[in-house]
Amino acid sequence: MPKRFSTFRIKKNLLYTTEEVAKLLGAKQQTVQQWIWRQGLQTVDDRIPHLVRGSALFEFIKIKNNRKRQKCALHEFYCFSCKAPRPAAFDEADLVKRLASGGGLLSALCPVCACSLHKWVSCAQFAAFSQHAKVAIKAVLHTQNDTWINVVGDSQGRSQCPLQD
Ligand SMILES: [Zn+2]
Repeated sequence: MPKRFSTFRIKKNLLYTTEEVAKLLGAKQQTVQQWIWRQGLQTVDDRIPHLVRGSALFEFIKIKNNRKRQKCALHEFYCFSCKAPRPAAFDEADLVKRLASGGGLLSALCPVCACSLHKWVSCAQFAAFSQHAKVAIKAVLHTQNDTWINVVGDSQGRSQCPLQD
């Protein structure tokens, strides 16, 4: 039986760091990071350290407590509107953020409700994502000198993961 977390102390209008979320719910900070990276807990923006809005955390925990665990496949995103894993609409995802640590943030649309979907991926997951779903990745890479480079590629032609330097 997976652990259930109480939503009782979550203030919906507050912003929490992952450390604060961990303290609030009696979870490990690592667990909270996993929620963000693997399970679709939405952050305020893509900045590090992550900030989570109380209302998003509340919804996430509520769903988490109520549903049988629905695991997203590598090519799927968790849609909070449909409350189900969904593949990217039109087989298209954008790499919207690249982290110095080697991960990146994928963004796509839900094919059912057209809500925007987000998912943090590691470099290895990114490669698996683009291969498994045969997704055309329009990668927008944020380089160190603050210029934006658009890279349009597909999984077939890609020789190097754009998350790697
Ligand atoms: Zn949806």
